[in-house]
Amino acid sequence: MNLKNQIVASERPYIIAGPCSAETPEQLSSIIADLSKLNVNLIRAGIWKPRTRPGSFEGLGEIALPWLVEASKLHQLPCSVEVANKDHVEKALKAGVDVLWIGARTTVNPFAVQEIADVLRGTKTPVMIKNPVNPDLNLWIGAFERLKAAGIDDLTAIHRGFSFYDHPKYRNAPNWEIPIALKERLPELPIICDPSHITGKRNLLLEISQKAMDLNMDGLMIETHPDPDQAWSDAEQQVTAEGLQVLLSKLVLRSRDIGAEIADQMQVMREKIGILDDRLFDILSARMHLSEEVGLFKKENNITILQPEHWAKSIQQRMHTSSDLKLSEGFIRQVMDAIHQESIRHQTNIMNRNEEND
Ligand code: PEP
Ligand code: MN
Repeated sequence: MNLKNQIVASERPYIIAGPCSAETPEQLSSIIADLSKLNVNLIRAGIWKPRTRPGSFEGLGEIALPWLVEASKLHQLPCSVEVANKDHVEKALKAGVDVLWIGARTTVNPFAVQEIADVLRGTKTPVMIKNPVNPDLNLWIGAFERLKAAGIDDLTAIHRGFSFYDHPKYRNAPNWEIPIALKERLPELPIICDPSHITGKRNLLLEISQKAMDLNMDGLMIETHPDPDQAWSDAEQQVTAEGLQVLLSKLVLRSRDIGAEIADQMQVMREKIGILDDRLFDILSARMHLSEEVGLFKKENNITILQPEHWAKSIQQRMHTSSDLKLSEGFIRQVMDAIHQESIRHQTNIMNRNEEND
């Protein structure tokens, strides 16, 4: 099968669903039978599970491959598994698995990705590559390049979020700017979002799925289980087939194609925004000019660039304006920090300038 073409040709969103882990033949046939009645395009199931810490369920291994392949065939659905090394690839392909995916903990390791690319050389296997656990766009792109160099062209990306120590809401931080940047760098590559691993909680799946659709992603990978609370891994984030159906019915799918009239109207709005952005940057530039004047004054009076008390007070005052301005405190903080850093850079240049050149 050609996964990439299927994703592009299929109605959006392309849906990949199935359990986090294959557990028993009954679990697989039950969930796959249920999913076959929905608009699911591809089955997923973990056979080898990379767990962060030992002691949790690490997957059944190859014994579960025929259960998965047979149940998928019976319901005329293709199936996919995660592979982390040469042995996994060989066993999965021999068992008749249609699509492979490289997990987040494997994408970080160029040796492992290269090993997988080498064993796939000469095949036409479709491969999906999850983002690495750390927010490193080049590492993700590097994995695509390794597979491409081995002649594997049927490639798809999966955005599953990035490790974050103690994120206030999600299991993994979405860092949407990274899949957006990936699309800019590799425009032909389909991108699937994996809300299950981003959120870690089933009640948050819809908001992330909706966001992925609004950002024009091509599909969703959602972990589904006949009895989610009893799942052997990732119990909190899995949903039943019915839960998946409800979620999909709530998704609002906005059009990707814009007609000429709408494009014209948007152009007018974008021009207005462009004019305001020009003004913003003119003001920022003037502001840095003033910073340089202050820097010169500090230099002449031999005082340090950073005056922490003054800075803390400025931030606090600015935060108070948050609700009047209808801007989030987080945004105000980010903008203030960025302005501050740039200001320090300008002042440092002034401080370090040679006296003769002054
Ligand atoms: C998975 O898909 O079950 C999995 C282990 O995901 P990730 O590589 O995103 O952690
Ligand atoms: Mn999982």
